[in-house]
Amino acid sequence: MSESLTLQIKSKFASRFQDGYPLIFKEAVVNLHDLKEEGTLLELVDEQNRFIGKGYYGQQNKGYGWVLTRKENESIDQSFFNRKLKKAIDSRQTFWDDPNTTAFRLFNGEGDGIGGFTVDYFDGYLLINWYSEGIYKFNEFVLEALKIHVEFKGIYEKKRFDQKGQYIEDDDFVLGERADFPIVVKENGVHFAVYLNDGAMVGVFLDQRDVRKSIRDMYSNGKTVLNTFSYTGAFSVFAALGGAEKTTSVDLANRSMSKTIEQFSLNEIDYEAHEIRVMDVFNYFKYAVRKEIKFDMVILDPPSFARSKKHRFSVAKDYKDLIKDAIAITEDKGTIVASTNYAGFDMKKFKSFVDQAFKETNGKYKILQEHSLPEDFKTTEAFPEGNYLKVLFIQKIR
Ligand code: SAH
Repeated sequence: MSESLTLQIKSKFASRFQDGYPLIFKEAVVNLHDLKEEGTLLELVDEQNRFIGKGYYGQQNKGYGWVLTRKENESIDQSFFNRKLKKAIDSRQTFWDDPNTTAFRLFNGEGDGIGGFTVDYFDGYLLINWYSEGIYKFNEFVLEALKIHVEFKGIYEKKRFDQKGQYIEDDDFVLGERADFPIVVKENGVHFAVYLNDGAMVGVFLDQRDVRKSIRDMYSNGKTVLNTFSYTGAFSVFAALGGAEKTTSVDLANRSMSKTIEQFSLNEIDYEAHEIRVMDVFNYFKYAVRKEIKFDMVILDPPSFARSKKHRFSVAKDYKDLIKDAIAITEDKGTIVASTNYAGFDMKKFKSFVDQAFKETNGKYKILQEHSLPEDFKTTEAFPEGNYLKVLFIQKIR
């Protein structure tokens, strides 16, 4: 890690990095073939060999690493990691102080100054997500910085850097005390069961916190709610606590049944008063149309890509049709909550899918609310694609 490699940036891209763009991408690099070992420190220079910044090599999606500083005299060492982690931890003071929310993101990659990893806090336990082998080479720095600056009981990790950027199955325990799972965390007073050593997903997606709160506080009272791609039923739990007349949760995965019952029960909701269905959402849409079932609120939160026996779904190609399916079973004056975490298109494009879907069904709508990532999922203006979450609350007028 001590040696650093000089990476030459093509003239036409140099100014982008000078303006703060943090992701090193293929087209920008002159001597790509010099990149051999992930974790290598890089010194970026322009074609006249003038200093641009320092970073590291790590393959993550389409990226080849991250710029970490644009100061020539700043070293990438333990104290660099300490400073970035401390700053991130201090800037989450409102979360540390809030007894009703005990799960939040305390370090969000490039948004907090170091691309390639994130750290989440779950009531005393930390979860690190590593997105490349390159950043994993710095893991001792990260662990040391966490030991210095955070009080915690134990640390778990997810290595998300096999060839496809998928999670690598492993014992995810790193250090400290092992937790008794589930860890029961709170979010705006609501309980969630969290499992940090049970595959890639832990039971709750923290980036939807503000969306869940809106659903509970503003949209659920007295309403019938369909939650599609429901996973552990987090949106259903918030809707139920917001006074929903009934929620229906639909997910293809067998585990979603017991997981949803668990989340309802933790919050003292009678799960038998609600419907939980293990089935393909697309079949559920057909079933609802056939039975003429309509809902006051329909929540759409699909994975970016999904394949089931009959369907192949990709958010980029099929979201418009998904909205049309939802329109067909939403009451007039009802609400569609459309969400995606796909980074490949922006809010404007997402809105165009909504517009197209209503046009094609001769409907009318109004956008009531827009959400992107919450405050603890810090992003930087220089890297807008880091703000991947897009959620729209849409009123179906007719
Ligand atoms: N909305 C959830 C997160 C969804 S994760 C939340 O807020 O917690 C995506 C989920 O979609 C997974 O649980 C997966 O099992 C489910 N899924 C994928 N394809 C599906 C399909 N065709 N029908 C139903 N569920 C599907």
